[in-house]
Amino acid sequence: MSSRKITIAVDGYSACGKSTLARALATQLNYNYVDTGAMYRAITLYAIRNGLINGKDLDVESLNEQLDDIDIQFEFNEASKSSMILLNDENVESQIRQMDVNDWVSQVSAVPEVRRKMVTLQQKMGKEKGIAMDGRDIGTTVFPDAELKLFMTAEIGVRTNRRIAEMKAKNIPGDFEQVKTNLLQRDKEDMSRKESPLRKADNAIILDNTNLTRDEQLNFALSKALELISK
Ligand code: C5P
Repeated sequence: MSSRKITIAVDGYSACGKSTLARALATQLNYNYVDTGAMYRAITLYAIRNGLINGKDLDVESLNEQLDDIDIQFEFNEASKSSMILLNDENVESQIRQMDVNDWVSQVSAVPEVRRKMVTLQQKMGKEKGIAMDGRDIGTTVFPDAELKLFMTAEIGVRTNRRIAEMKAKNIPGDFEQVKTNLLQRDKEDMSRKESPLRKADNAIILDNTNLTRDEQLNFALSKALELISK
């Protein structure tokens, strides 16, 4: 295999298995994997903990004032062979998957200053290539020159059941209707925001995985990546 490293951008709707696929691709290729959703979730957790969300309102002004106090990093955990997200040095990997974070993350991630800070950080993480990154704007805004861009989609019922299973594994309770409503609401907000909305990059490959197993998705994406790497 040639040693040429590429950039892999995985975007798409909520709970389509973007992280699972991007992580598996990174493992196969010995690349770094970055879950950008976790970064927006960590900022949302900060906002909740620091009283920046009151009832129905997000205090955007205070959030912007405090942005410099929010440090987001990833730490590789040898035991679990995965990255843990650190918010101001605290591992918040399980807290960021809770329902209150789900409910607010799309509003927090629509704040232009938040996006600019995260996009700058993401571009730094990927500047050496050899990276698989998943999110909503990776192929359009973060790495518009990524060699491989995948845009993932799946039927909403399938996505809801996958997300509930994921939450269950982390001991987080999830009601089908509540989770489904949250996924649809986030997709809507993510597609309609002004700053880097969720949309398919013109040159992205659509991957509808409603009826595909994890291995089938991985084989498909890996063959595309290997084709590009060996060019
Ligand atoms: O991927 P995940 O579902 O964890 O992302 C949580 C939320 O973070 C998304 O619904 C979206 O609002 C936001 N997000 C984003 N841009 C990204 C990744 C996530 O706006 N690149």
